[in-house]
Amino acid sequence: MEKNKVYKNVSLTKFNSWKVGGAAENFVICSDINFLSRLIQNEKVQRPIKFIGLGSNILVRDNGIKGTAIVMHKGLNKFSKEGELFYSEAGLSCSKFSKLVAKDGYSDSAFLSGIPGTIGGALAMNAGCYGSEIWGYVKKVKMISPKGELIERDVNEFNVGYRQIVKKYEQENFVGAWFSFPKGKKEEAEEDIRKLLVHRKSTQPLNWPSAGSTFKNPEKNHAAKLIEECGLKGFKIGDAKISEKHANFIINLGSAKAKDIEDLINYVKEIVFKEKKIKLIPEVEIIGDL
Ligand SMILES: Cc1cc2nc3c(=O)[nH]c(=O)nc-3n(C[C@H](O)[C@H](O)[C@H](O)COP(=O)(O)OP(=O)(O)OC[C@H]3O[C@@H](n4cnc5c(N)ncnc54)[C@H](O)[C@@H]3O)c2cc1C
Repeated sequence: MEKNKVYKNVSLTKFNSWKVGGAAENFVICSDINFLSRLIQNEKVQRPIKFIGLGSNILVRDNGIKGTAIVMHKGLNKFSKEGELFYSEAGLSCSKFSKLVAKDGYSDSAFLSGIPGTIGGALAMNAGCYGSEIWGYVKKVKMISPKGELIERDVNEFNVGYRQIVKKYEQENFVGAWFSFPKGKKEEAEEDIRKLLVHRKSTQPLNWPSAGSTFKNPEKNHAAKLIEECGLKGFKIGDAKISEKHANFIINLGSAKAKDIEDLINYVKEIVFKEKKIKLIPEVEIIGDL
């Protein structure tokens, strides 16, 4: 598929980590910021416009999505150092970013190494783990407006919460960000990444398609613990299954439909509410038509 060209009816199955779902009515792989800018300001381009990172936190429904999906990870992924700050374009993967920061002798980026998304997706979700969140390290971001303008914005123009951010200018999308990490030792930072990846491999079902944690952790509780206590580990709808290794992961055994996954999400919510009187809120974003 050529970059910077709009295609019609492209299946999003290959563009999300659950490997399910229908097609995007229009689909573009962007590798050129000027093209992206012209594309967004072109009124003929069908709306809504949806930015997609590595699709590791979305459930695309089987009927697909209307409008135009824009993918950036195959081009808009440059990384640079500007003084003491690191600049990353939104399409760079979190794992690559984490390794580059560590390689330069800065610490604390290890938590990003196991998050299989892009910097843009991580900014949109305030991704994090083991007590760290990406917005804890952001100094400034570069947005693209619905008119295709590139605008630098301060952190205080965003309301940052647990796995969510509220943008003051909600129609804007991320094209890059500047980060600050504490100076450390290259070897120690790289060892932190290695240890974290070993730990994740031993606790998460990484050899199956999933979207990581399906639900947010309720306050002072763990979604995985609640799901396990309700006896739901291993429960299946079609080929969508609650992982036995980590109860907050729904894995695709091979031929799950998005509907199987969504039905399983709703079933888990219902049972956990019935048994524990706690409302689980999905961390994953469900997009597209029913
Ligand atoms: C095995 C596994 C483990 C995971 N572990 C973690 C974890 O430890 N911590 C964690 O927080 N998450 C985790 N996740 C979930 C996921 O990786 C993160 O939420 C990640 O930040 C999503 O990035 P993405 O590029 O895949 O975004 P996508 O899933 O493609 O998109 C997610 C949202 O971000 C928006 N978005 C994407 N790019 C942009 C952009 N440039 N501008 C504006 N909006 C944009 C999309 O429109 C969508 O609303 C895990 C997922 C998997 C599969």
